[in-house]
Amino acid sequence: MLLVSGPSGTGKSTICKLLGEDPRVVFSVSATTREPRAGEVDGRDYHFVSKARFTEMIQDGEFIEHADVYGNMYGTLRKPMEEAIVKGQIFLVEIDIQGALQLKTLEMPGLYMFIAPPDFETLTRRLSGRGTESPELLKRRLHKAADEMEERFKYDHVIVNDVLETAVEEIRLISGLGQGATP
Ligand code: ADP
Ligand code: 5GP
Repeated sequence: MLLVSGPSGTGKSTICKLLGEDPRVVFSVSATTREPRAGEVDGRDYHFVSKARFTEMIQDGEFIEHADVYGNMYGTLRKPMEEAIVKGQIFLVEIDIQGALQLKTLEMPGLYMFIAPPDFETLTRRLSGRGTESPELLKRRLHKAADEMEERFKYDHVIVNDVLETAVEEIRLISGLGQGATP
């Protein structure tokens, strides 16, 4: 398991998209109760499910971990992870800090990467530039990011996402994927 975590807006999704170009990497598609954003595809970005369905999935033990993030539920599915590991693929998990720490507590073997912004101003600019948050939610995410930065020492590596390509290259080298997008 290659786990990519960090505060909101630090570039996790952007980085994971690039890492996912490697055929040895299988991206973990989480289930969520949040509404799809423009351009998001069900089954590719997330499995978008109702709250009732999510509760059912918890009861059926379908998640390795699940968490409430800003009022929506998110969960990592057990089955695709087990299938990827059996096939010797790299299971790429993009997850918030609570989820990552849950997996760490469960002693889920893997490489734990914390994505950090170069500085707080850059994070603010990127998050507001993404244009997906209301001013209220933006404020909440930034406030939480400051606290979440303290958790970085619990990870195997801290990757500063300044120049995107450099950050991705660093993760590829550390995780043994080597240089370049494909082998
Ligand atoms: P997260 O998944 O951690 O919430 P995103 O991947 O959505 O973060 O990135 C937040 C915004 O910052 C996006 O608009 C993305 O295009 C931009 N971004 C990500 N990494 C970089 C980078 N290295 N340089 C400039 N912009 C970036
Ligand atoms: P977004 O709604 O912006 O896609 O994601 C919000 C947060 O939920 C992000 O920090 C993202 O990493 C996190 N997230 C996505 N999938 C999961 C998951 O399966 N479990 C947990 N705990 N967090 C997740």
